[in-house]
Amino acid sequence: MTALFRQLPSVDKLLKMPQGEQLIVEFGHTAMVNVCRKLIEQGREAIKSTQQLPAYFADISRTFNEIQRQLVKQSQVQIQAVHNLTGTVLHTNLGRAVWAESAQQAALHAMRGNVALEYDLDEGRRSHRDNYISDLILALTGAEAACVVNNNAAAVLLTLATFAKGKEVIISRGELIEIGGAFRIPDIMAQAGCTLVEVGTTNRTHLKDYRNAITENTAFLMKVHSSNYQICGFTSAVEDAELVALGKEFNIPVISDLGSGALVDLSQYHLPKEPTVQEKLGQGVDLISFSGDKLLGGVQAGIIVGKKALIDQLQAHPLKRVLRCDKAILAGLEATLRLYLQPEKLAEKLPTLRLLTRSLDELQADAEQVKVRLEKRLNSAYFLQLETSSAQIGSGSQPMARIPSVAVTIAETSGKLTALLARFKTLTTPIIARVEQNKIWLDMRSVADINALLKTLEEL
Ligand SMILES: *Cc1c(COP(=O)(O)O)cnc(C)c1O
Repeated sequence: MTALFRQLPSVDKLLKMPQGEQLIVEFGHTAMVNVCRKLIEQGREAIKSTQQLPAYFADISRTFNEIQRQLVKQSQVQIQAVHNLTGTVLHTNLGRAVWAESAQQAALHAMRGNVALEYDLDEGRRSHRDNYISDLILALTGAEAACVVNNNAAAVLLTLATFAKGKEVIISRGELIEIGGAFRIPDIMAQAGCTLVEVGTTNRTHLKDYRNAITENTAFLMKVHSSNYQICGFTSAVEDAELVALGKEFNIPVISDLGSGALVDLSQYHLPKEPTVQEKLGQGVDLISFSGDKLLGGVQAGIIVGKKALIDQLQAHPLKRVLRCDKAILAGLEATLRLYLQPEKLAEKLPTLRLLTRSLDELQADAEQVKVRLEKRLNSAYFLQLETSSAQIGSGSQPMARIPSVAVTIAETSGKLTALLARFKTLTTPIIARVEQNKIWLDMRSVADINALLKTLEEL
């Protein structure tokens, strides 16, 4: 064993050899030393546990190859692209909405240099970073003003903390939702320092329940769009307009956490209807918050729209400074919202809507191409089929609603499917699929770039 230990090079020796000096020029001294130390340590461990030298210590050129490989690898970004074949278009674990081309460009420009983020070019003086978004929101929805924060969870927190700290917020029991990732309405209320006043029952809440709960300490009547679950059967909820009328009677604002927050009526695309921001404003809701990367199809952000006097107070709260968005995000959001100014082109230019509205014929054609590629590369043990599939919007929108789709399914009887799934994940751009009924489902509805997918499949 001592003989083996003696065969391990020293860090010093590696650094002084010409190949070592070359790697220092390329990657710097610190990284080179760290990788050499790690490799030698691994060598020691291997000798102890297996009484053998790892293969890369067999000769010095292999050692330097391994050092170089590790140096290259450590500079490669690990948040890497994947192909989404899950059939869930807005998949939170896969980064939700794919950005529109114009949003990517806008963000890139913003990050490459300085931008007039808080600077009014016409007036030559300081302005506010949310102004660009606020102006667009006004044009698109008629809302008086907007406030932009990091995400919709932050939007809800900011709203409650600004107006309801030490006060009561009345909400229906049927809307006390958890949306995953530890976002629960009661917890957010507690964080904001307000008291939750639950009214009604899980399945039925009436206007009189809200009315009876109002005290002089009530800050808000709150509605939460329980988009990620449905209660069926004997149910009743209070319409926003009724709640607004009640709020007016007592001079209490009504706020709505809309979640996905569509800016267009999805039913015109034959998709399941989601309430729109404009409808809520039309019903007189005072403040509405929604996500930027769900149905809006843009960037991770939370947008609060509504009465200017209220928005001004949100903007002035110290938490707003904590939760504000950076220039690249605001540029991406602005570019995304600009697409909504040309609604006839939206389904073409906004990836989320493009994917949701692709015809079954298009999906079928894609599926056929995928099947042909797979047939060439998988042996006859695998049984491939085109099947109708049901995709979903994702991110809590309409969990019951299924969108028709087409999938390539892969069946295999001797238990090799797990290995194939694992193989899919090792491709240059990993493929993330769905497993159902003992088959792999490659759902075409959520594929953002079919040509890139076909290219990846050639690696199999
Ligand atoms: C998704 C969602 C949120 C959280 O939004 P993020 O942008 O993910 O922070 C809050 N409320 C509802 C109703 C939601 O659907």
